[in-house]
Amino acid sequence: MSLAQLSGDWMKRVRRDEPMSKHTSWHVGGPADVYFEPQSIEDLAAFLKSLPADVPVTWIGLGSNLLVRDGGIRGAVIATSGALGRVERLSQTRVYCEAGVPCARLARLCIKWGLGPAEFFGGIPGTFGGALAMNAGAFGGETWRHVVEVDAISREGKRATRTPAEYTVGYRSVVGPPNEWFVAARLEFEKRPGAGDDELRRLLARRKESQPIGEWSCGSVFTNPAGDHAARLIDSAGLKGFTIGGASVSTKHANFIINHGAASAADIEALIVHVQSVVERMHGVRLEPEVRIAGAPR
Ligand SMILES: Cc1cc2nc3c(=O)[nH]c(=O)nc-3n(C[C@H](O)[C@H](O)[C@H](O)COP(=O)(O)OP(=O)(O)OC[C@H]3O[C@@H](n4cnc5c(N)ncnc54)[C@H](O)[C@@H]3O)c2cc1C
Repeated sequence: MSLAQLSGDWMKRVRRDEPMSKHTSWHVGGPADVYFEPQSIEDLAAFLKSLPADVPVTWIGLGSNLLVRDGGIRGAVIATSGALGRVERLSQTRVYCEAGVPCARLARLCIKWGLGPAEFFGGIPGTFGGALAMNAGAFGGETWRHVVEVDAISREGKRATRTPAEYTVGYRSVVGPPNEWFVAARLEFEKRPGAGDDELRRLLARRKESQPIGEWSCGSVFTNPAGDHAARLIDSAGLKGFTIGGASVSTKHANFIINHGAASAADIEALIVHVQSVVERMHGVRLEPEVRIAGAPR
């Protein structure tokens, strides 16, 4: 297998057979062949350059929108959280942020700097890189509305600076050059001195009221279809509380699936498929997953 061609020095730095259940907010997922946490963008570029060309690469931030199947991930997983953590103010209104920065940290810093609107990042439990990949948003705010430039890296470890015009950005969807991932971005905000703190507290309270915060989930499982809400369709199909194995549709927010502790990825995926088919039968609407599914079944 070509991973065996990875040099001894790199082999000492990677974790072998790393359980992905340790790195996803659903707490499910089999082992990754190789799990790598870069120390810097340069370190990441060197790793990608030395990784044999036929080894597939999967990126993970905080795993808060990722269902990893029980058979795990073949090839290499690049983990940005805990690394690529630089965030700084470049000018009055501009911010540089690396992919591994938690969204909540970005929100807090923007509030401290008197910049906004960035409060919506405060309740998104992922990395900034994940927010770029998903065009994460909440309460009317959206990641890509603030992007001026991104720094991307290719499978070969080549870096490129790109503008938003090079991406097709939509609701929870970003399509750009293939085989490239985000390492950082420059963001533009408005000057909003003194605002933010109260707004952040208000938004977090609204979340707590309507979402099963603290339980093992991936947030909203499905995107909202045009003009409607996935949660409303799932609720009115009578699916709140519906259970397969250790996974249930949340009784608090119907677009959340909860792992009560013993669910497998297969339970969660079967529940996703069940919800899709019941909603389609009852409402004639095909729900599309927002969560990304990776890896192999057991
Ligand atoms: C309780 C809860 C509430 C949530 N609320 C919201 C919400 O209000 N709004 C919202 O939009 N989302 C929400 N989410 C979903 C999730 O937090 C976001 O989608 C978040 O942006 C994912 O970031 P992550 O670092 O966890 O990405 P991961 O889950 O690790 O990865 C998600 C996808 O992004 C890719 N990816 C990760 N990093 C990079 C990178 N650097 N470059 C390229 N691709 C990359 C991965 O390969 C994967 O395909 C919620 C989740 C939970 C658990």
